[in-house]
Amino acid sequence: MSAPTAVRPVAAGPGFGRAFTAHTVSMTWTRETGWTPPVTEPYGPLLIDPAMVGLHYGQVVFEGLKAYRRPDGTVAVFRPGDNARRFAASARRLAMPELPVERFLAAVDQYLRADGDAVPAEPGQSLYLRPIMFATDADLALKPAENYRFILLGFATETFFDPSLPAVSVWAGDRYVRAAPGGTGEAKCAGNYAGALIAQVEAAEHGCQQVLWLDSKERRWVEEMGGMNVFFGYGGSGDFTLVTPPLTGTLLPGLTRASVLTLAADLGYRVEERPLSIEDLRADCESGAITEGFACGTAAVIVPIGTVKRPGGSWVVGTGSSGPVTTALRERLTAVQYGRHPDVHGWMRPV
Ligand code: PMP
Repeated sequence: MSAPTAVRPVAAGPGFGRAFTAHTVSMTWTRETGWTPPVTEPYGPLLIDPAMVGLHYGQVVFEGLKAYRRPDGTVAVFRPGDNARRFAASARRLAMPELPVERFLAAVDQYLRADGDAVPAEPGQSLYLRPIMFATDADLALKPAENYRFILLGFATETFFDPSLPAVSVWAGDRYVRAAPGGTGEAKCAGNYAGALIAQVEAAEHGCQQVLWLDSKERRWVEEMGGMNVFFGYGGSGDFTLVTPPLTGTLLPGLTRASVLTLAADLGYRVEERPLSIEDLRADCESGAITEGFACGTAAVIVPIGTVKRPGGSWVVGTGSSGPVTTALRERLTAVQYGRHPDVHGWMRPV
C-alpha cells in the first residue's frame, strides 16, 4: 500500500497516491450481462447510493502495479498478468465475479493508451495503476451482491528509496493480528487494510514506521508487513541464504516477493521459503547470523529493515542499513523494470 515513512518523497515530487491522471477505465458487471466493454472516462467523483453494498459490507478488492518508462521512451508494465490473476483470486475469496485476465490486461492497455504520456521519464519515477472492484447493489440484505463496478485509476509516483536514508524500523506487537487461517489474509481486499491501520498507529507510538505482522495463533511466526513481504539474509559473500516466510494463506502473495525469489537465485544466492520465528529472528540478528533484512512490494520496491522492536526489547538487523545483497537485488529488479537489464523472465508487458 503506502510507502514507508522513512523513505522520504523526493522534494517537490509527485508523492504517492495524489497526482492522479486525467482518465479512468471503467466496466460494470451484472449477473445477467456479465462484464460490459471498458469505457475511458475523465477522472472525477462518482455518484454512489448510500446503501451501496461495497460501503456497508466491504465487497471491495483492488490491485497495485506499475508502468515504467524505458530508455528508448517506450512504456512497459511489470507483471500485469500476475496482478490480474491475484485480482481474480481476491474476488473469488470475497464472493465477487472474477474479471478474466485478458479483460484486466485490456483495461490496462486502454488506460495507458489514454494516459500513457503520464508515465514519468524522471529517474526512479513510475506510474502506479490501481484497479479496484466494488459491489454497487443498493440492497442491504447480507448476501453476495449482483452488480459490480471496476475502475482503473493511476498516478505518477517516485522512488521510495534513497540510499542515504536510514532503513525502516518495524514494530512486532502482540495485540493485533492482520489475518487468521481461513480468513482473507491472502486476498487484496480493502478490509485487510482498514483492520491493520490501528497497528500502524501503535507502531508509530513505539517509534516505528511499519508493522511486522506475526501469526494469529502463537504470535510467534513472522508473516509480512503492512504492505510488503519480508526477507532476511544469512551469511556473507560466497555463502548467502535468503529466507522468507512461506505463503501459508495468511500472507499476501506479493509479486515483488516472487520476483526477488527468482532474481536472488539468478544472482547465485540460496533462497528458502520457511517459517521464521520472532525469537529466532532476534537470536540470529543478535548473533550476527542474519546479516541483512528487507521488505519488498510494488510501491517501495525494496527497502532495508534496520531495527525490529517488540514489547520485550529491540534489536538491529545487520548493520542497520542496506546490506550488499539488498542493494544488489534492488539494482537488478529496478534495472529489469526500467529496461536497463534484459527481461529474461518475460515480466515486462510493452504498451
Ligand atoms: N503484503 C501486503 C499486505 C501488501 O498490501 C502488498 C502490496 N500489494 C504486498 C505484501 C506486496 O505485494 P506486491 O509485491 O505484489 O506489491
